[in-house]
Amino acid sequence: MSTSAVTPTRILLVTGGSRGIGAATSVRAARAGWDVAINYTRDATAAEAVAAEVRALGRRAMVVQADVAEEAQVLAMFAAVDASWGRVTGLVNNAGVVDLPARVDEMSIQRLQRMWAVNITGSFLCAREALKRMSRRHGGPGGAIVNLSSAAARLGSPNQYVDYAASKGAIDTFTLGLAREVAAEGVRVNGVRPGIIDTDIHASGGQPDRAAQLAPSVPLQRAGTSEEVAAAIVWLLSDEASYATGTTIDVTGGR
Ligand code: NAP
Repeated sequence: MSTSAVTPTRILLVTGGSRGIGAATSVRAARAGWDVAINYTRDATAAEAVAAEVRALGRRAMVVQADVAEEAQVLAMFAAVDASWGRVTGLVNNAGVVDLPARVDEMSIQRLQRMWAVNITGSFLCAREALKRMSRRHGGPGGAIVNLSSAAARLGSPNQYVDYAASKGAIDTFTLGLAREVAAEGVRVNGVRPGIIDTDIHASGGQPDRAAQLAPSVPLQRAGTSEEVAAAIVWLLSDEASYATGTTIDVTGGR
């Protein structure tokens, strides 16, 4: 007997799918039977390389350039997926940024606005557009959304980036509230809270060696991999997670 949580088709949009956790998620999702739209902002070559991996697994792939912080670009991105494949039934709100280490008493308004715009507003905009296509309230077939949080939401990241940590705290609340808002409409919403994962994000925050430096402080004594985070994300997207909504899974090596 089918349940209300079973996802009928498998069309997935991964924001920031060109590198790191988003790239690993795109490939793992393809292995699990999803066609994958891979979003990126700057690195088209990296996005195309991920698309090639998806196609090599026998699934469809498309790449879509859009800054998730820009509403017009988000609308165009969803319209592009609609035109090629139809309604998305999965969304991974993965695109996210950090910034250089700073104390709160040093943070510029430009820095704060970018942090909220990409990490928070971008996730809201993409979820809004996904819900218009997934939710039974809008005639959709149902679906699943996974939001990328961070262990920073629990730890606060003092002297590093409290702004980033706070943006991920907002994502935790967003996951909980949205999940309850749309639970009766066939849409599950969950989160994943990675710990220290070995990706380019640390270099983009001016700390290329951050993962290696912090590894000894992790109970499992190492940084995690993008694939280990992708495993949790793709499980939450899957029908195996049909009774999970409004929850956020820590993938932090015990941190
Ligand atoms: P990453 O290696 O820096 O990759 C970021 C991805 O996001 C790239 O594909 C990038 O595309 C894309 N992107 C950046 N800004 C964007 C925007 N405005 N619109 C659309 N795409 C954008 O990051 P990651 O380490 O894989 O992190 C992925 C997610 O996990 C983030 O939300 C991050 O906060 C979270 N996370 C990561 C860690 C960690 O230790 N790595 C820990 C906790 C949480 P382009 O290259 O084309 O710009």
